[in-house]
Amino acid sequence: MNDASPALENLLTETRAFPPSPEFAAQANVTADEYDEAVADRLGFWADRARGLLTWQTPFTTVLDDSRAPRYDWFTDGRLNAAYNAVDRHVEAGNGDRVAILWEGEDGSERRITYAELAAEVARAANAIAGLGIQTGDRVAIYLPMIPEAIVAMLACARIGAPHSVVFGGFSADALHSRILDAQARLVITADGGFRRGAASPLKPAVDDALAKGGTDVEHVLVVRRTGGDVAWTEGRDVWWDDVVPHAPAEHEPVWVEAEHPLFILYTSGTTGKPKGIFHTTGGYLTQCAYTHSAVFDLKPETDVYWCTADIGWVTGHSYVAYGPLVNGATQVVYEGTPDSPHKGRWWEIIQKYGVTIFYTAPTAIRTCMKWGEEIPGGFDLSSLRVLGSVGEPINPEAWMWYRRVIGGDRCPVVDTWWQTETGAIMISPLPGVTATKPGSAQVPLPGISARILDDAGEPVGDGQGGYLAITEPWPAMLRGIWGDERRYAETYWSRFPGRYFAGDGAKYDDDGDIWLLGRVDDVMNVSGHRLSTTEIESALVAHPWVAEAAVVGASDETTGQAVVAFVILRGGDEITDLPTGEDGGEAIVQTLRGHVGQVIGPIAKPRSILVVTELPKTRSGKIMRRLLRDVAENRAVGDVTTLADGGVMDLIQQGLAKG
Ligand code: ATP
Ligand code: MG
Repeated sequence: MNDASPALENLLTETRAFPPSPEFAAQANVTADEYDEAVADRLGFWADRARGLLTWQTPFTTVLDDSRAPRYDWFTDGRLNAAYNAVDRHVEAGNGDRVAILWEGEDGSERRITYAELAAEVARAANAIAGLGIQTGDRVAIYLPMIPEAIVAMLACARIGAPHSVVFGGFSADALHSRILDAQARLVITADGGFRRGAASPLKPAVDDALAKGGTDVEHVLVVRRTGGDVAWTEGRDVWWDDVVPHAPAEHEPVWVEAEHPLFILYTSGTTGKPKGIFHTTGGYLTQCAYTHSAVFDLKPETDVYWCTADIGWVTGHSYVAYGPLVNGATQVVYEGTPDSPHKGRWWEIIQKYGVTIFYTAPTAIRTCMKWGEEIPGGFDLSSLRVLGSVGEPINPEAWMWYRRVIGGDRCPVVDTWWQTETGAIMISPLPGVTATKPGSAQVPLPGISARILDDAGEPVGDGQGGYLAITEPWPAMLRGIWGDERRYAETYWSRFPGRYFAGDGAKYDDDGDIWLLGRVDDVMNVSGHRLSTTEIESALVAHPWVAEAAVVGASDETTGQAVVAFVILRGGDEITDLPTGEDGGEAIVQTLRGHVGQVIGPIAKPRSILVVTELPKTRSGKIMRRLLRDVAENRAVGDVTTLADGGVMDLIQQGLAKG
């Protein structure tokens, strides 16, 4: 993407907009004034949020230290503790009886944990971990299912200033081994297993295998009992959680760390290639997590029931399950399992059961529910909902409309939140009480965030134009580096446009100056000299009533340079009645969809071929891995599939191709 061709072409137009209702706007946490406040004094704005939203043991006097750019330090002379901010201070403020976690196991088990109970449990776990020899600064790997102990473990590490490195419970022993090595972790916290898709799935064997590969600094493995399954045991190394945590004292003095003390390392989801160990520190990260969680979701801690479906194994589970909501004193649902266990309405049943008011999920989940049909959510009472959020990929406008109508009852603002593991917290998003939302657009940088779309030469583009999304000023929750590789940090993020952070995503401004994410610049296609966005063509396909989900890639083509190849999943459900069937059904579907894309965005975007599939290759966090589809479209051996959620998907697609 370093050629000098014009930036991305602007293909789709969207005219629908949904202003907040007057009632919602009147009660919203944030008004439009905050944009002005932040423009007038950006650093003052963040200093104010840091003081107002967090409790500091030692107040800071410096807001931003840019003397080591591109390493930026925030609130450097302040001291605080993340776990104290997430739990203890709510108890001290008299809110110990408020429920922090409404936990629902996949097998139907339930736990309600108040802030007072959580404070005691975190203190016990911190004492137990310290008893295993972990000191401030040591790294701890966490490899757990979505059980309350996962959050307790993260906070216990934070309490003693030991950075955690959470590894998604679905990752293999190999992936776990490389992450343990990279972070030089001394302790692994795991479980015998967890429940997924209706069955107990073991975790401990992967830890045993990872450690058997050798070379690690791990001294102990702390094991939570969840499924009760048999586990192999290494005497002297392995310790049951139940043998040490419940007996540990429920008092623990938090370690007051400097604002820049590392809080965690997290490896990116690996959509584009080898995962990077992104590391975050304490004060700035917590400030922006707390602010965005309150502003973007309009959180009212006393009355809302918040639910983010993300696993703690990826960044959304860090910022919007473990830290943001707890720092804000929220009551949140945590669910262990998959959305289709034991039935496809499980999520909606949970919303009905707990009266969830704020719901935050990923486009992949929304599109999967579209595929299953709207009669499934239609069978549940979702009237408690008041704000809906989306994160992880561009949300196609029709998926956004479906989310708003079917889940949100045409009443809830939908906030499409753009951010990354690297940014730590939400960067671009509508504000639900301020912004007239537009289906498919993340719209505006939040107050205090400076983002611009740039052309190849690094000049800002104007309204109606596309290019590269860059962050032009440092922000509190920004990554502080790639663990153990400072040079890679500077090269990866700061070299394309010197002095500015390049996010890797393409984007455009519409005529109102709102931002639309267009996919990763590595995925941009060049067809006969036109630079086309995967997202726009996918959105055109999803706009057809037969299509639930689409993935588009550019495959090399002798005449056009690249040609558009599309993979589509069709929609099920009662509402689809006119899908062609029979012998020529498949061909009729393909011709109709090609014609549809031609009509919606123009002949240049018409896919050369469209393949109907039943699954798409996705990362563990649910993102489409287009590079693998490109391998298929170009008849190459399929590349590295280690971060794929389901390794069998690529075989299925290739078998389908061979038959077609
Ligand atoms: P890797 O960097 O290892 O390839 P990844 O980029 O998928 O993995 P994450 O940090 O989890 O890892 O994801 C951030 C990316 O997800 C963004 O750069 C963007 O491409 C995409 N993304 C997240 N939220 C949105 C959104 N609301 N709209 C569009 N794209 C989004
Ligand atoms: Mg990325």
